[in-house]
Order: sequence, then structure tokens, then C-alpha cells
Amino acid sequence: MVAAVSVLLVESTRQFFGSIMALRFRALTLIAGVLLAVAGPCLADDAIPTPEEYAEHVGGAPILRPGELKLDGRQQVCGQRPTVIDKSLDDYGAAYPGFLILNPKLLDRVSTPVKLWIYAHECGHQFRGPDEETADCFAVQRGRRQGWLTEGGLDEICKFISPAKGSSMHLSGSHRCEYMRKCYADPSIR
Ligand SMILES: [Zn+2]
Repeated sequence: MVAAVSVLLVESTRQFFGSIMALRFRALTLIAGVLLAVAGPCLADDAIPTPEEYAEHVGGAPILRPGELKLDGRQQVCGQRPTVIDKSLDDYGAAYPGFLILNPKLLDRVSTPVKLWIYAHECGHQFRGPDEETADCFAVQRGRRQGWLTEGGLDEICKFISPAKGSSMHLSGSHRCEYMRKCYADPSIR
């Protein structure tokens, strides 16, 4: 099935590029990908959709232009990147090269510093590439610099990611946390 393969490729590209809880949701996403291939229209053959293509694919999700996004009253900016608000996303946030995706339903369940960290993490993928640790580091250093991330906030983030299990490709939550604490304390920007 060509259609199934193409959807799975798109899904795995996005997961690889920027999903905070990639491990936890991988199996679910694979199943969802197969169901999508059977039940719904596919994205174009290109692995990287435009924000408009993605938004249409998920049923007409809103696209927020740079400067339009607020999280708990704070304006969020990631260069010129727009954010697609996707209530059906299988994760809190995700990133394709060129735009970010947030799930407002899941974000509603977490505290402000965790929300801002998720956005900053996905933004980190825009500027630093697919590596999770690097995106984590980008996010906590941005939080420190912009003043929204305290040591207490970092504790909340660590609690949030602690259930994530490690694998050869993804470090476990506690390892990520250890690395983020180092980054947070490091005055040089990585
Ligand atoms: Zn990520």
C-alpha cells in the first residue's frame, strides 16, 4: 500500500524531527498512521508539508502567524515560524521544518513553565535541528534568558518528562533532565 507507506513516512519524519514524547506515542502514531491511510486523504508525497497543507490535512486547524500566539498571557515568538493549533495532535507539541504544532487540549493540563518549555523546545528544533538534547538545552537557556524559567520551573519540567523511557535513540527523562540542569546553569549559550 503506497498510501500507507507515505503517511508513515510523514509521521516518522515529524516524530524524528520534533516530538517531545516521541517514544511514548510511537506505537500509537504507527497505528493512527495506518488508520489514516485507510480512512482519510493523505498529505502530498513530499515528506515536509507547508503549514497550510498540514492544517488542511487535520481538518482545517487554525494557523497562528508570528506574534499571534499567547500561552498563559505570554506572547510566543519563534523567528518567523507560524504555529498550527491542532487539537488532534498525538502529542503536546511537534515541529516540522518551518512551523510548529501545538495541541491546546494537552497543553491545558500542564503548568505555565512546562507550556513555555514545550513551545521553546519545538522552536529549538527549528534552529538547532532534530536532536532532542539540543532542543531541550535551547529551551531552558531561552527560558533563563527571557526570565520565565526558574529552578522551580525546571523541577516541574523534569517531573513532566520523567515517565519517558530511554532507548538507543532517545535518552530517558532523567538523563534529559540532568542535561537540562547543566544547560540551565551554563552561562555560555549552546
Ligand atoms: Zn523534540
